[in-house]
Amino acid sequence: MMVTMYEDSNKDDGNGPQNGTGSVSVRLAELKGDMDEINRVKRKYPMKIPRYYLDLIKDKDDPIWRQAVPSKEELEDRFNLEDPLQEEDHTPVPYLVHKYPDRVLLLSSSKCAMYCRFCTRKRKVGRLQQIPIEDVFNAIEYIRSHEEVRDVIVSGGDPLMRSDSELEEILKRLRSIPHLDIIRIGTRMPCVQPSRITPRLVNILKRYHPLFMNIHFNHPNEITSESSAALKRLADAGIPLGSQTVLLKGVNDDPQVMRELMQKLIKCRVKPYYLYQCDLVKGVDHFRTPVESGMEIMRSIQGFTSGLCLPHFVIDGPGGKVPISPQYVKDITPDQIIITNFMNDLYSYPGVRKGDERQLFNKNVRKIGIALNLKKSLNEKDRFDKYAEFDDLETANAIRLALENTGYEVVLLEADNDFIFSLKESNVDFVFNIAEGIHGESRESHVPAILEMFNIPYSGSGVLTQAITLNKSRKKEILDYYNIRTPKWQVFKSTNQKLKPDMRFPLIVKPDAEGSSIGITNESLVFDIVSLKKQVRKVLKDYDQPALVEEFVTGREFTVSLLGNPPKVLPIVEVNFNHLPDGIHRFDSWEAKWIFDNPDSPVDPIICPADLKPKLKAQIEKVAKQTFDKLGCVDLARIDIRLDSDGNPHILDVNALPGLMPDPKMNSRFPKSCYAAGMTYDQIIQTILNSALKRYNLLLDPIKDRNKQKGDKSKRPERDDAFDIIATVTESGSHQASTP
Ligand SMILES: *Cc1c(COP(=O)(O)O)cnc(C)c1O
Ligand code: SF4
Repeated sequence: MMVTMYEDSNKDDGNGPQNGTGSVSVRLAELKGDMDEINRVKRKYPMKIPRYYLDLIKDKDDPIWRQAVPSKEELEDRFNLEDPLQEEDHTPVPYLVHKYPDRVLLLSSSKCAMYCRFCTRKRKVGRLQQIPIEDVFNAIEYIRSHEEVRDVIVSGGDPLMRSDSELEEILKRLRSIPHLDIIRIGTRMPCVQPSRITPRLVNILKRYHPLFMNIHFNHPNEITSESSAALKRLADAGIPLGSQTVLLKGVNDDPQVMRELMQKLIKCRVKPYYLYQCDLVKGVDHFRTPVESGMEIMRSIQGFTSGLCLPHFVIDGPGGKVPISPQYVKDITPDQIIITNFMNDLYSYPGVRKGDERQLFNKNVRKIGIALNLKKSLNEKDRFDKYAEFDDLETANAIRLALENTGYEVVLLEADNDFIFSLKESNVDFVFNIAEGIHGESRESHVPAILEMFNIPYSGSGVLTQAITLNKSRKKEILDYYNIRTPKWQVFKSTNQKLKPDMRFPLIVKPDAEGSSIGITNESLVFDIVSLKKQVRKVLKDYDQPALVEEFVTGREFTVSLLGNPPKVLPIVEVNFNHLPDGIHRFDSWEAKWIFDNPDSPVDPIICPADLKPKLKAQIEKVAKQTFDKLGCVDLARIDIRLDSDGNPHILDVNALPGLMPDPKMNSRFPKSCYAAGMTYDQIIQTILNSALKRYNLLLDPIKDRNKQKGDKSKRPERDDAFDIIATVTESGSHQASTP
């Protein structure tokens, strides 16, 4: 009673000599098939092709032929396994596979209308007599006694090879199990023999809802008026239809073919469900494609046509189905996830922010301005050290190059009286700030203040920190407040002021608001009241600001560079005074910094990394980080520290805008530390940039702009490279910074 009704054209299912093979053989021979080869292969792997499917073959070796007609390659496969999914290991009762927690596969038939050449169950189908129905009923009892099973896939072979009444009996028994929610039927019948989907069959099926059907189509040519009509009957009966497709070389390993298939299925109300990477089944190796072609196909569907057409691409194996997705996620941090869309454009999606975090700039950075003050040549009446803090063109160009190397457009913005105008005109999205400022006691905070006014994000510390770190006595008050050691001090606003009785000579006299040893010369170290008054008068007059008088601490002197947020301490610099001639005091005076330390000097007054006992090193690093934190520094800072005669570190100064001279011979101390950590100059600049971008949650997308300008979409893959550069910079930057 079984299959005879529907098995029309041939009965060659491998069980010995059959009737009716003639018509198939005749047709295959007509199509110039090699009948010797076909007959040889089908002795090992049976052949059966329904008349309907046979008629879909247009040419030898076309996608329909390849799925149905034996090929000698099946016998040549020396690699693959009989049971690559290890289903036998998950078979608690015959004809049932229980691999997942809540669902099972019921093998209800060992027969199929056609024996697909790529079949996963090639070892089983077509070989045996039909599975005894009693064994199927027995497997159903397993489901009844396992309450965790809420979903059954009635599969095979093809369950629709069972007669209507047998099928109904199977469904009836399954439906009588209270904990079984879902019945799914997996069948290839609508594809290979649509006439099997009779109104009578559909009427039976719809009595057992919720009943789903998973069908199996591999090529658009399989969707004909007959198969469409069969699918319509099923869909009209309220049976949700899903499809499975196997990715097969020479059949459908082509984005266009696959897209067309998915679109045609959707038109028939079939939802593409799984796209399978070809299993490692023995006799099937010649159908295997690289996994990448499946990923490429998925890419060609996502976004290019409706999401309804998108199956899950999976590799099935002993561990079950594993979804394989093209890489849309490029980077993920707590601040943002960087993603590509179907056109390969980069986007960022911000992480969830806490209330106390800074404003989110949800935009891409393409153009960066470098705000700076370039050194000028001195006028006759200018003070000799007027431009000491300003940057030279060499530094500006090195920074520009480092930023351009990651793909940005970069402009230099001179932070002079025209800064506001050039800033607005430049249309920059971000400013790399190294501007020292031109006027006033808080000049280093001016550029940050202007940028905040225009809501333009920038690198380095903010307005308040820049103002405070430029003012030595304010800075010392704050350090004092946090019990961070700094030499005892007194501020002089006039020469008439009395020295506090607890201040001990020698004292050092400095302008209260300068950096780079400006106004600190060999004479600044004083040993008596007379020279103290002289130096105070000099500062008040020449630098037009109060004088800071500090006790002189006499131990080793260090410069500590910090980078990132929270900062990493880079290898520590020791300032060596041994090379200074007699009569030059051992401290970081103008002479020591700019005269006796020059590229032509035979001695290197800078030792990096400093030779430090671990305990002292830890002590210095701790106090440096504390200072960075308490003064509100971000991204980078350089902190000068000197030990007193008892070996306790004192903070001498904090520079939130450390010099960034690229030439190692110039002994610019911040780059010096970075070089000692193994960084290149580009990495220094890019790490500062990335630290700032992270704070603002900004995304860089330099290459996009470039391609847009070119209007050349074929060049798009270039984007990925640029992204990699960005990603590596972040990586190596943080890695390098953590080396010390
Ligand atoms: C595929 C499969 C299932 C069903 O998996 P779903 O992801 O729920 O479709 C169940 N059992 C076995 C053994 C399978 O191979
Ligand atoms: S219908 Fe399914 S089970 Fe039968 S041979 Fe084809 S792929 Fe294998």
